[in-house]
Amino acid sequence: MLKTLYNRWEQGYRTNNYPKEKIELFPRYRGLPEIHKNASEEIAKKCASACPQDAIDAGAKVIDMGRCVFCGTCERLSKGEFVSFTGNFEISVSEKEHLITDGTLPSLADHARQHFKKLFGRSLQLRQVSAAGCNACEADLNVLATPFFDLARFGINFVASPRHADAIVVTGPISRNMRTALLKTYEATPSPKAVIAVGSCTITGGPFRGSAEITEGLDKLLPVDLFIPGCPPHPMTNLHALLSFFK
Ligand code: SF4
Ligand code: SF4
Repeated sequence: MLKTLYNRWEQGYRTNNYPKEKIELFPRYRGLPEIHKNASEEIAKKCASACPQDAIDAGAKVIDMGRCVFCGTCERLSKGEFVSFTGNFEISVSEKEHLITDGTLPSLADHARQHFKKLFGRSLQLRQVSAAGCNACEADLNVLATPFFDLARFGINFVASPRHADAIVVTGPISRNMRTALLKTYEATPSPKAVIAVGSCTITGGPFRGSAEITEGLDKLLPVDLFIPGCPPHPMTNLHALLSFFK
């Protein structure tokens, strides 16, 4: 017992104070991309053709964050002249088209489905569906239950059954084999319910785009309320999205 108390005292209080206090992520983290419009067309085209995700529109000078896997190739190639990644992890949106960005995003808190805040602001139960994800998106959701993030202090929990859930959180490219399971989970969740797409796989197919085995966008199957981009999205991105959308 004394050992446990000593250990508790030694560990101290580890939970972060976000969103009351800002959090700085490590310098190599790639968050919201900034597009420098005055970069030459030549360098923009070079970045677009090197992008493994076909996420850059060199003419409009925008990046589709729904496709982007944040590999940093465009930043490296242009030496930051065309694209540079900021440390801003608050990159989620409620409308898919907002993911196509030049570095500006609307405030997620002002989304059009404000009734969700009234319904689920104090208690939100989530059912996670891994629809053929690589486990990185899943792991970075899982980590929200650890002491540093302590998602439960906001009244948000992951539950075992869709019958107990207010929203489903989908990860992975939604393989042909997982489609029925996903749709059944959605059906089993009582209304009103929200649908959250996490990661580039779920939003656009991610690295699997073009394969006949996947869905290329959860919004083709279900009405998506919240899009959380990344490959995988940082846990702070997930936390910001849940708090801004539902609180
Ligand atoms: S960081 Fe995104 S936009 Fe840039 S090259 Fe990689 S996938 Fe393409
Ligand atoms: S978005 Fe990236 S991290 Fe997430 S499941 Fe797909 S490949 Fe894995």
